[in-house]
Amino acid sequence: AQQKVDPKDPQATALGYVDDTTKADTKRFPKHANDQKCNGCQFYTAAANTKEGPCTIFGGKQVAAGGWCSSWVKKA
Ligand code: SF4
Repeated sequence: AQQKVDPKDPQATALGYVDDTTKADTKRFPKHANDQKCNGCQFYTAAANTKEGPCTIFGGKQVAAGGWCSSWVKKA
């Protein structure tokens, strides 16, 4: 399996990635909302009911279903 995204890695910190959307930095990202989660994001390539899944923004590394980053885009 692909490795998990480390919230401390440079790309993750640049995008404000967190494993828990409620922990997002809302000062830095004022458009964040708690109903925005990786499993509802366009770039999450697993089924929505999975605990974690690959994110294309992070090169296919695993992100938490309930995570978030500033590249979040609502799944079409
Ligand atoms: Fe989560 Fe989407 Fe950001 Fe990937 S791009 S980490 S799926 S919010």
